[in-house]
Amino acid sequence: MATELLTPPRKSNLFLPELVYFEPDSLDYPKGKKIYEWAQAQDLPIRMTTSHNRITNLPGDSELEKYRIAKRTLVVGVKKTLKFEQSKPSAEYAIPIATGCMAHCHYCYLQTTLGAKPYIRVYVNMDDITGAAEKYIQEREPEITRFEAACTSDPLGLEHITGSLSDLIRFMAEQPLGRLRFVSKFHHVEPLLDLPHNGHTRVRFSVNADYVIKNFEPATSGFSERIEAAGKMARAGYPVGFIVAPIIWFDGWEEGYAELFRRLKAELPADAEKQLTFELIQHRFTKTAKRVIEQRYPKTKLEMDEAKRKYKWGKYGQGKYVYPDEQANALREFITEQIFEKFPSSSIDYFT
Ligand code: SF4
Repeated sequence: MATELLTPPRKSNLFLPELVYFEPDSLDYPKGKKIYEWAQAQDLPIRMTTSHNRITNLPGDSELEKYRIAKRTLVVGVKKTLKFEQSKPSAEYAIPIATGCMAHCHYCYLQTTLGAKPYIRVYVNMDDITGAAEKYIQEREPEITRFEAACTSDPLGLEHITGSLSDLIRFMAEQPLGRLRFVSKFHHVEPLLDLPHNGHTRVRFSVNADYVIKNFEPATSGFSERIEAAGKMARAGYPVGFIVAPIIWFDGWEEGYAELFRRLKAELPADAEKQLTFELIQHRFTKTAKRVIEQRYPKTKLEMDEAKRKYKWGKYGQGKYVYPDEQANALREFITEQIFEKFPSSSIDYFT
């Protein structure tokens, strides 16, 4: 079996699907029409489907090839259920604009949560979605309501196709009590830099040691690209944060993470620091995730040896394997020190 099917190469250029499906009612919306014209202009194969649930015949000779192609298949539809999921602790609600992702991070939790539907869905009825958000904001007045746009996807990687993040940023700029946040492993921030955001959107970049990005995050933007994008967003006045995840113990981890914080310090403008937040998440896996990862990325170097981990019971059934206390403490102490040394006015939201 060809290795490139198992671990796609790093391609941080803009995502181009191999196949695009449209649900017919999506073409009743300007965004649906625009995406249709874009797909035609790119000369992409276009198919119609009455529902994404009917997409069962994706091309591919093996399960792995089908998976790879599904991740490069775009499905354009209308979001019918406008009941938002909760998104604790970083926001009150998940705001649904897309599901699925074209990248191939070996550890990605979408592999288990999206199950047999790894294709990328984007929604075109943004007025309905922002209308629902407005109601959620009103319900919580006078409290602020935060919405997370990246719970089920990496929307920045799709922005050149949909423009939906820009819609949300503009919408939230006008909401005195609404805030938006999203996280990304991509660097394509140009469309967002000149938007009126009113400081109401916080962007967090998911960053890591270069070793982790190179070995476990194929088809995302590289180490330097993400850090430079964070600098651009901070200079455009957006509140910026970083999710360092998954924090991985590897030979040379201290130097790898020290280099990350050195580069962040060099790139970020000094006035970004007081709004800077860090979220720190050590690598963990469940038995189910391990099984899926070994099928999809059989050559992964991701260490998932239960015997080397500590079992942490889960609230709802399945527990997780995290690093034993000694390793977790060493990681936490080292990274915390780095952050406070380089960014003394920033805050660490959590280490988990
Ligand atoms: Fe998953 Fe994020 Fe990687 Fe996409 S970029 S595969 S959503 S971890």
